[in-house]
Amino acid sequence: MIRNIKDLLRDNIKHLEPYKSARVDFKGFAEIYLDANESPYPSSYNRYPDPHQLDLKKEISKKKNVPVANIFFGNGSDEIIDLLIRAFCNPGKDKILTLDPTYGMYAVCASVNDVGVIKLKLDKNFGFKAENLLSMCNDEVKIIFICSPNNPSGNAFSTEEILSIVENFEGIVVLDEAYIDFSKYSSLISYVNSFCNLVVLQTLSKAYAGAALRIGMAYADEDIIEVLNKIKPPYNISGLSQKEALRLIQNTDDVMVHVSEIKAERERVEVELKSYKEVLGIYPSETNFLLVRVVDATTLYGFLIKKGIVVRNRHGQWNCDNCLRITIGTKAENQFLLKNLNEYYNAEDIVFG
Ligand SMILES: *Cc1c(COP(=O)(O)O)cnc(C)c1O
Repeated sequence: MIRNIKDLLRDNIKHLEPYKSARVDFKGFAEIYLDANESPYPSSYNRYPDPHQLDLKKEISKKKNVPVANIFFGNGSDEIIDLLIRAFCNPGKDKILTLDPTYGMYAVCASVNDVGVIKLKLDKNFGFKAENLLSMCNDEVKIIFICSPNNPSGNAFSTEEILSIVENFEGIVVLDEAYIDFSKYSSLISYVNSFCNLVVLQTLSKAYAGAALRIGMAYADEDIIEVLNKIKPPYNISGLSQKEALRLIQNTDDVMVHVSEIKAERERVEVELKSYKEVLGIYPSETNFLLVRVVDATTLYGFLIKKGIVVRNRHGQWNCDNCLRITIGTKAENQFLLKNLNEYYNAEDIVFG
């Protein structure tokens, strides 16, 4: 088990003297602000926003029952993924480990930073064994990214499996819970106080209907949060986003209603899809999408585009031959999709007998 996160940091990050923005140098209230070269003329946004987003953090802290000191906001989870790789992985030397298939940004961020990527191929049911994953880790692997529930497979991994990795890996484990609100499994954020090497990522982009705000959350040990604060761009979350995000988080009644509607629709669409013999399989989903194997994914994908419906073609990814990833929309949107599928498969019956 890891005891000191600071030993894992890149040397240049460990010794970094962070940029001190005007609003970090002076905290508190003043009559007149002449410290940040802002325009004095009022508009809603003439002043720099709070670099540490305290109002937002306090609200999230209440909702998620996590202390403010264990929370970090990024310009989307994507920014946090990048910051973590830059903090812990030496370019040209260190590596990250990810699952295959999974969310593409871990590997892209690693490559941008000249950090190698090791992939553990998931089995036919998109599962894996913790011991297999741990056996692939050598001294060069600094971060393991686990997406659970996983994109694009839709399944979640067991808490025991994830915790045994966190416990036994001598580096950072990033658990991406972007889809946790749609899952029957519980979040592992409460474990960030027990394991100093666990980082849990969540986002406002999916269940919270805030994708355009670009806000992702990291929950982790204070030492990790401190490092992220040190290396982030000072004003990474805009004032407009902070304001709107606060509104979203203060009113989660809608979110809960929409999440249960999406889960109900996910079951309904699954049942409907199963009635087609050309639909070869639908993977169990803990998310707001279905991974569906069909006879010819690319042809169906093209047909749906012509009908004005765009889904994600995952054909070509590991274990995803002829698979489409279909996001669950509103009831009307799903109905339109099903109507067009019906047309497609009935027309095919005519053509191909
Ligand atoms: C959609 C998604 C995200 C969200 O990223 P943001 O930058 O917060 O919008 C993160 N991880 C996974 C696995 C996703 O599918």
